[in-house]
Amino acid sequence: MFIKPDYNLKSIYDINLEELKNKGIKALLFDLDSTLMGSKRGYYTQDTLNWLENVRKDFFVGVVSNNNNPEYMSKVLACSDFPVVFEAHKPDIKVAANFMKQYSLKPETTCFVGDRPLTDVMCGKNLGCMTVLVDSITADIEKPIVRFARKLERSLVKF
Ligand SMILES: [Mg+2]
Repeated sequence: MFIKPDYNLKSIYDINLEELKNKGIKALLFDLDSTLMGSKRGYYTQDTLNWLENVRKDFFVGVVSNNNNPEYMSKVLACSDFPVVFEAHKPDIKVAANFMKQYSLKPETTCFVGDRPLTDVMCGKNLGCMTVLVDSITADIEKPIVRFARKLERSLVKF
């Protein structure tokens, strides 16, 4: 079994927003941990916030996270003013599909962005969305065992 994201990029900052716009994309749904912020960090860096603000000029921005820790969830919500849904159970699509329905997002104009092929990319693909796989936003400081696990999971990714 191979997973083929539409784009395979180093980080969110490498997303070509003009290209997505030209392809008719109107909404970007992001995974949270390791995609928009370091795992379990609970806040966005100023660079990421600035970038998201720029994205929001042209796109709907939302977060679909599998995280289910109440303390962490409230910490994240306190520093997000865009829609966030937690306990999404990706790659299951039910929660994400409801979230999209709630904001009238259509799969053909939505792009799903995340760092995990087996959860984020699978979920996006099963929803019928465009998909972007990114490396961890904190790849440079991840432990060797985490890098190894990522490498293993990425052996399923077809480029
Ligand atoms: Mg993640």
